[in-house]
Amino acid sequence: MNAKPHEHDGTSSAATIDWHSIRAQFPVLERRVHGKPLVYLDSANTGQKPQAVIDAVSTFSAHHNANVSRAVHALGGEATEAYEAARTTLARFLSVRRDELVLCSGTTFALNLVAFSWALPRLKPGDAIVLTRMEHHANIVPWQLVAERTGAVIKVAELTPEGELDLDGLWRLLTPEVQLLAFAHVSNVLGTVNPVREICREAAKRGIVTVVDGSQAVPHRPVDIAALGCDFYAFTGHKMCGPTGTGGLWGRRELLAQMPPFLGGGEMIREVRFEGTVFNDPPMRFEAGTPNIAGQIGLGAAAEWLSALGMTNVEAREQQLLDDATAALLTVPGLRIFGSAREKAAVISFAIEGVHAHDLATLLDLEGIAVRSGQHCAHPLMQWFGVSATCRASFAFYNTPAEVDALVAALHKVRQLLV
Ligand code: PLP
Repeated sequence: MNAKPHEHDGTSSAATIDWHSIRAQFPVLERRVHGKPLVYLDSANTGQKPQAVIDAVSTFSAHHNANVSRAVHALGGEATEAYEAARTTLARFLSVRRDELVLCSGTTFALNLVAFSWALPRLKPGDAIVLTRMEHHANIVPWQLVAERTGAVIKVAELTPEGELDLDGLWRLLTPEVQLLAFAHVSNVLGTVNPVREICREAAKRGIVTVVDGSQAVPHRPVDIAALGCDFYAFTGHKMCGPTGTGGLWGRRELLAQMPPFLGGGEMIREVRFEGTVFNDPPMRFEAGTPNIAGQIGLGAAAEWLSALGMTNVEAREQQLLDDATAALLTVPGLRIFGSAREKAAVISFAIEGVHAHDLATLLDLEGIAVRSGQHCAHPLMQWFGVSATCRASFAFYNTPAEVDALVAALHKVRQLLV
């Protein structure tokens, strides 16, 4: 039932890969929208799924469906084996141990798990949590909830005008009261790629626990969590060709081992008596209830499929699309790009003077072009830029240079209508 790897084996280079045949494996990209070919430029929001992932989910549901870790019957065994195989594949994909990988519904769940199981029992008045200006709400709000309950304070690392982290400023914030530093590997608005290793090294020197939000990194570049030096790493499946409601949290074993459960229920226990319950070891301790079995199996298939394609190829392809799109967008009169970090992923937030982002996105949609408009779940970043909304075109390896041209042509056209 595993996803069938396509013809590439991860050894080809980006230049020799037939990207059209890769794209052809994504059925939804054949769609037409408002009578025009779909140009899907919203992969930072959610990514599209190759047939191999769709097949892995439906094969499980059609032939093997049963609950995991409970039944001794044949289907129960098959389901458990497939679910645990997905954990193994994901662990290999991210270079971590499988018993340190908690499967959950995605980054939001993963960050809340760290907030409520690691931070809530430990933090006290006077402690501090450091976040950065570029965080997604999923990496802000859980910490605020914990700060309110513990009396800890939140400090914010600011950005340079280019949208990079001001590292000197960050180091100054890392004072002895700081217990935890949570930051994005890659910004979902600016595309900025943060120097995770350097940041984690500085934090570790000061005994500060690091939590990395890998939502926008894992789908787009090789990520070797073991080499990053962080303590927790969260990721989400639906942005990396996997189904929605999937993802995981990697945590250092010694930290996971000390953490109380986040949710209580089946699977996370060893023995339950009314007098008290003995909890399971990690990762099961944090996987209460019936998980998204078919979804996580689909995510395992996605990791296998991406490994076969090669994440360095994915990164190279998307970098080319980013470079081409950035140059072409700047030919549109009045267009401003937010974020010009030296190391940047294929996310371009932009605005056109005198045009509201939602109007722009609505008219682009009529041309078949899907971009996101709004605040991108990053209100504090938008406040810092002093704008109420931007449009965001986010690319994946399945996009084409012709789609970049289509976006730019549509922007020229739409701008003439609106300005
Ligand atoms: N963090 C970042 C940087 C994101 O881009 C997103 C999704 O947009 C999230 C967290 C939340 O991910 P999910 O909604 O899959 O939990």
